[in-house]
Amino acid sequence: MKSLRQVIKWTFVVTVVGLCSIMAVSVANTIASPHRNEDPTTVKTTPWPFDPPTLEGHLSQFLKIPTISTDHPAERNDESFKQAVEFLSTTYPVAHEKLGIKMQAGFTLVGHWPGQDPSLKPVLLMAHYDVVPVTNQNWSRNPFGGEIDEDFIYGRGAIDDKSSVLGILEAVEMAIKQGFQPQRGIYLVLGHNEEVGGEGGAKQVAADFKSSNLEFEFVLDEGGIVTEGSKLGISKNVALIGIAEKGYMDLELVAKGVPGHSSMPGPETAIGRLARAIHRIETNPFPTRFDGSVFAMTLESLIPYAPFVQKWAASNLWLSAPLITAKMSRNQATNAFLRTAQSFTLTQGGTKANVLPAEARANLNLRLLPGDTLDWAESRVRQLVEDLEVEVKQANPPLSLNASPISPTEAFGFRLIGQAIRTLDPSIVPIPYLVLGATDSRHFRDLSPNIYRFLFASMFADEISWIHGVDERIRRSDYQRAVRFYSTLLQNL
Ligand SMILES: [Zn+2]
Repeated sequence: MKSLRQVIKWTFVVTVVGLCSIMAVSVANTIASPHRNEDPTTVKTTPWPFDPPTLEGHLSQFLKIPTISTDHPAERNDESFKQAVEFLSTTYPVAHEKLGIKMQAGFTLVGHWPGQDPSLKPVLLMAHYDVVPVTNQNWSRNPFGGEIDEDFIYGRGAIDDKSSVLGILEAVEMAIKQGFQPQRGIYLVLGHNEEVGGEGGAKQVAADFKSSNLEFEFVLDEGGIVTEGSKLGISKNVALIGIAEKGYMDLELVAKGVPGHSSMPGPETAIGRLARAIHRIETNPFPTRFDGSVFAMTLESLIPYAPFVQKWAASNLWLSAPLITAKMSRNQATNAFLRTAQSFTLTQGGTKANVLPAEARANLNLRLLPGDTLDWAESRVRQLVEDLEVEVKQANPPLSLNASPISPTEAFGFRLIGQAIRTLDPSIVPIPYLVLGATDSRHFRDLSPNIYRFLFASMFADEISWIHGVDERIRRSDYQRAVRFYSTLLQNL
């Protein structure tokens, strides 16, 4: 009895000491952490004499050209693309002359501006000028009218991504007129078919660059914006700089059945078996991954600005990760940052109401988290439904792509982008984040380990739905800042 009481006593003492130590260490971590990842520096910039109405007028005109990407290139209206290329060359003649901007892969434009110091690796600035169609959408403005009101410039492509294309060209045109020459070389790639995958466009240019052994100090493409930090628990606005993007794969599930008349069915039809497979997959989501994730880096970068509890959680991920993961994975908006997302997007089966189908098919769309490879994800799904005799295969292998590598936040490119943002608005906190969609920059992953995705446009609350949605528009003030953002970058490359 005595020894049991002693064991209980010592267990209690050890537990208390252990908890106190954990508390002490975690509080010490929290107190020690405020300056981690904080880089409040700005960069020098000469305010070049941009004329705001001229800038806005150019964007308005460009938005009137319906450069719509279609799944089948044969259905594309090439006249619009020719018109866009012509518009760019007449609006930015100096840039076109100096950088030798011309069509290199389809209507994708490429230019090169050699730097003063050829020993420095060049930088690649990317954007795309094709847009998604406007179908079954009830716009309050003409999507190709380039309308401007008190606050906004409206049109399909206003944010995604014509404002980047023109922002870059305005900055380059002005820089040359000011007699400026960058320290390092600059390449421009302005894609014409990003919205349908960049095949024969940016992808072809990347292959050409690769065969010329080009390497870039960093690549800047679309993919991040400015938004409110309250979604992440801080009161300041944040600039989301994409340091990685998710992978992509479509899996086709096929269940075979015995065709025949529906008056004499067997115990289960192809559709029934497929339905069971779908249910099993939906009830077995991909596992969450937090350690070493981009989302963990996002939280850590917020430490200097976060309230105490959040600061404690982000400073002690070794302790808080399970709590954070549980909370975030319940929220639809944050869940996608923590795991490979899976959605059934197409089903097909049967041709007639009274005939048993010979087969039923479903498409499972996967957006892969960095670390979840194509092979692993495919075999995971296959194993889940193996006993149901449902075949699983990649639906469109050329579209399948692993998630990108994670670009470092200590590299020159990331720091410079953050500093340029702060220079224009010191109240904004630049943070790394994971891009859930795909950008043309994915084709350039072999050409630089430092790929970043950001456009200086702000979208708050549900304004993110403008992209590919109804009444797409950019704040006039944001567009002015986007141009100055690119000119600040140029001056500090
Ligand atoms: Zn885009």
